[in-house]
Amino acid sequence: MGKRNTILTLGILAIIFIIAAQVIILRGLWKQENEMLTLRYRSLAQEANASLRGSVIEVHDTVRYILSQYSRKLVKELPEIKDETSLNEKKKEILDYFTTALEKEQDFTAFLSKYFEDQGFEKNFNYRISITNIEIITSDTTSFIAYRSDSYLGLGSGGPGNIAPEAEESKTSISVLRQRLGDNYFYLNFEYYIDFSDKQKLILRDTAASLIISLLSILVILTIFMITYRNLMEEKRLSNLKTDFINNMTHELKTPLATITVAGKTLEMPQIRSDDSKILSTAKLIGKQSVHLNQLINMILEISMWERTEFQLDKKTVNVEELMNDIVSSFRQGYGHSAVLNQKYNFKGINADIDLVYFTTMVNNLLSNAVKYCEKEPEINIEGFVEDKNICISIADNGIGINKTDQKHVFDKFYRASGGNIHKYKGLGLGLYYVKKIATAHGGDVTLNSKPGKGSIFTVTIPY
Ligand code: ADP
Repeated sequence: MGKRNTILTLGILAIIFIIAAQVIILRGLWKQENEMLTLRYRSLAQEANASLRGSVIEVHDTVRYILSQYSRKLVKELPEIKDETSLNEKKKEILDYFTTALEKEQDFTAFLSKYFEDQGFEKNFNYRISITNIEIITSDTTSFIAYRSDSYLGLGSGGPGNIAPEAEESKTSISVLRQRLGDNYFYLNFEYYIDFSDKQKLILRDTAASLIISLLSILVILTIFMITYRNLMEEKRLSNLKTDFINNMTHELKTPLATITVAGKTLEMPQIRSDDSKILSTAKLIGKQSVHLNQLINMILEISMWERTEFQLDKKTVNVEELMNDIVSSFRQGYGHSAVLNQKYNFKGINADIDLVYFTTMVNNLLSNAVKYCEKEPEINIEGFVEDKNICISIADNGIGINKTDQKHVFDKFYRASGGNIHKYKGLGLGLYYVKKIATAHGGDVTLNSKPGKGSIFTVTIPY
């Protein structure tokens, strides 16, 4: 038990370590991909912007024109505004106007999108424009500062094409461009961000292969672990069953041996030797027990025989109903003499290819169990019928029944239901194992339906 738990704990620990390692690796990969994506798009935007340089006028032409017209008007208006409040309002109005004009009229986004697409990258992105400085040039030497952001002041003025620092970037937006636009009437500085709202999806797409391989490897490791663990448990169970079998067998062998020993001792007694009838009955007892002992030894030999070779069926075509009648009537005369045996057949007179010896053993095992595992007067209902080219034989008893857990294992070699091992019911846990083996050797199967305390129904199906 301790060993099993150690293996389980070690296995689970190993799996946790492997999963943790995979998670760390994947996180690193994700971070790396994230950085690569930022770098890639930033350098792409930079390239795009550089390619614009010769024709920068075209891209910002419209917005420059609109802003120039607006600023020209402002140059005239501004000197007339005297009080602080109106001036502040004007500043706000200017910022709004510039912002709206930039948002609406800039063609950089369309240009960038096309550029990204041409280079084989994602063309859909959101953008954000952040104005850092607006100056209205009122004369050759003076200018009216309508707006100036803190970052503009802090970072100094960048020339066209300068890249804004990462500090301004949020998790999904990439600062790709710092632009300066102007003419005789105004100066404008703004930063352009591209915002991949589905950046995570892009990264996921790029890392999908690694992700899948990693998940698969975890899955494979888990499966291998589970299979190994199950095999280990199965081996343990089999070895326990074998030990039980040896204990049961020893017990079975000891009984006749003890009787023979006692009988031998009895024969040595002078008062017995003088009585012929006692000698005879003791000799008979020895003979009977020797036969039993012999049967047991033969059975052990047979078990090893069955194990070594896949047994060969010697099939003969027989009338199933006649065969069943024969088997049940000889059972009635022997082990089943105390039981009520009801038969109901509807075999429609069919003949089937059957190995008589094995088939008889199979039905006998089921019938014997029905009598053996019963605590009242055994009543056994034997039914036979044909269904879909199969012979079906069901043997229902009113015995102790089998619980759900044991039902899964009763056909296993050496398996005895938990109550069965206490020598109350003698047995080696092989009867049903042979039943299953014989049924499958005939191309069929056996099923069980049982309720503890109520009884069991075993149904054998064999194709004909
Ligand atoms: P054995 O009878 O030698 O123990 P079997 O392989 O015939 O071995 O049966 C396996 C176990 O299944 C038995 O130990 C018993 O607990 C249970 N079993 C088999 N047949 C019946 C039955 N008809 N009713 C109740 N329990 C049964």
